[in-house]
Amino acid sequence: MHFGGGADMDDIMQMMMGGGMGGMGGGQRRKRKGRDVGMAYPVTLEDLYNGKKATLPREKTILCPDCDGTGAKKGSGGGPCRDCRGQGARMAMKQVGPGMVQQMQVPCDACSGSGMKVADKDKCKSCNMRRTKTVDAPLKVTIEKGMEHEQQIPFMNEGDQSPEIDIPGHIVVVLQEEKHKVFTRQGDDLKMTQKISLAEALCGFQFTITHMDGRQLLIENQPGEQIKPGDKKAIIGEGMPKHKKPTQFGDLIIEFEVEFPSTLDEDSVEKLRKVLPAPPKMEVDYDPEEAYPCSVQPQAKDDVEKEMKKQAAEDDDDDEEGGAGGVQCAQS
Ligand SMILES: [Zn+2]
Ligand SMILES: [Zn+2]
Repeated sequence: MHFGGGADMDDIMQMMMGGGMGGMGGGQRRKRKGRDVGMAYPVTLEDLYNGKKATLPREKTILCPDCDGTGAKKGSGGGPCRDCRGQGARMAMKQVGPGMVQQMQVPCDACSGSGMKVADKDKCKSCNMRRTKTVDAPLKVTIEKGMEHEQQIPFMNEGDQSPEIDIPGHIVVVLQEEKHKVFTRQGDDLKMTQKISLAEALCGFQFTITHMDGRQLLIENQPGEQIKPGDKKAIIGEGMPKHKKPTQFGDLIIEFEVEFPSTLDEDSVEKLRKVLPAPPKMEVDYDPEEAYPCSVQPQAKDDVEKEMKKQAAEDDDDDEEGGAGGVQCAQS
């Protein structure tokens, strides 16, 4: 390919790389808007239950107030170059080959590529012609009762200011709920797990929960009302406050884990047998010629363990199948 017509190498490179700053030198100018920025903000479940006002430290770029972002003393008439709108470059048509014209970027003649037209004596000393400054601009965040994980709190047009943009973008604070040691949230409801003993499950119980506003709840179950493992009970109105309707609450769901005694002595077993609704009899009828006595074993947790148990059973007795599903059989 032949490049004629005096195009220099820099211009050609610029052209091949896609022409740099887009949208320059055009007739009509759209309003340029800054980018929106998300800020993650960690909150506890207590914050979401009780509500909270927080201050987020933040640094913000603003147009220099001493020169209104012009870089020149007020009233001096100096400021960004009008020919290139402060860009320091403009687009020009160049012939790059026989009958081939390409638009490309060249340094602005009017400001020698600096983008600024300010007499030395008129330079803004406050920003040193940078046109912007960095200031502390903490965000005041109000966490309302009942707000949720990943809820977005927007601060409209609070993003960084810049001479390059007309409208700053938004800052969006995104709440990040931290894990709570007692409660998990399910919509407006709260969920928790409570361990109780077998005696409590059968004979009734009392326990207390400190709620997220500091109140103590007394949870009780009357003797004679049994709780089975995995039972769920609701405490109405002790869940999360509803967002925008903070006088209304979801429920607190308590799931019960029942801890069984690991061992019982013979005497206790005998006593329990007397008081609990027992099966009609402990012994069943079976044909001793046909039935294999099987004792129950802990279920194998994985295939490897299962295979080992099977292997052990086969080693013990080659004729017999190892018990699958946690039942070990032996020949009678
Ligand atoms: Zn210029
Ligand atoms: Zn300034």
